[in-house]
Amino acid sequence: MKSIKGEGSVNCPHCEENFDAEFWTLIRGDEDLELKDALIGGELNLVSCPSCGHFFYHERTIIYFDPTIELLAFVWGGKEEDFEKQKAQMQKDFELLKNNLTSLNINYQPFYLKSLTELKAMIEYEEFTRTQSEVVAALAAQNNFKVVALKPSVARVSGFPFYAPIAGEEYTLANFVKASEELLKQNSALNMLKTMLDEVKKTSKLPAQVK
Ligand SMILES: [Zn+2]
Repeated sequence: MKSIKGEGSVNCPHCEENFDAEFWTLIRGDEDLELKDALIGGELNLVSCPSCGHFFYHERTIIYFDPTIELLAFVWGGKEEDFEKQKAQMQKDFELLKNNLTSLNINYQPFYLKSLTELKAMIEYEEFTRTQSEVVAALAAQNNFKVVALKPSVARVSGFPFYAPIAGEEYTLANFVKASEELLKQNSALNMLKTMLDEVKKTSKLPAQVK
């Protein structure tokens, strides 16, 4: 499923002119970096009235989808006070999407966001997670440790990186703790790894890996 563009009639809030406009309804965050940037920059679905030249946002829901990191977000692009009204529709849209596109294997929960600002914060956090995860993987490789890929949707809600280092072949508590302690000794700025290590020590439970 690629990014999707739609077309429909809109009303200018300034002069009330009615005209047809194109707008994006689904953005593939992993494939269309220009659209992703436009979305973060607040330029997506900004339309200009052909009659009076007024710029305004086409108020609608945009779906942001990056299956590589199990991120699916329904983002309301209109006024925040209208969000609660829209949420029920978003939930229906999600059920439709999930049932019609079983090949995508969406076995994680979507996010329902009030605004593009919330999505922007979320994407920035994803970039931070990705960077920390890459540092964990690179430092693990330098130490001849393997890494286990974690289920991104689970890692995200716990504040964990996308990889868990292991000293040895098996994904066990002892191997994970040993490798993590060693990496943290070498780089104390890996706070997501620290969060994960603390949580694993506390619960004696390893985070779910990608199957
Ligand atoms: Zn107008």
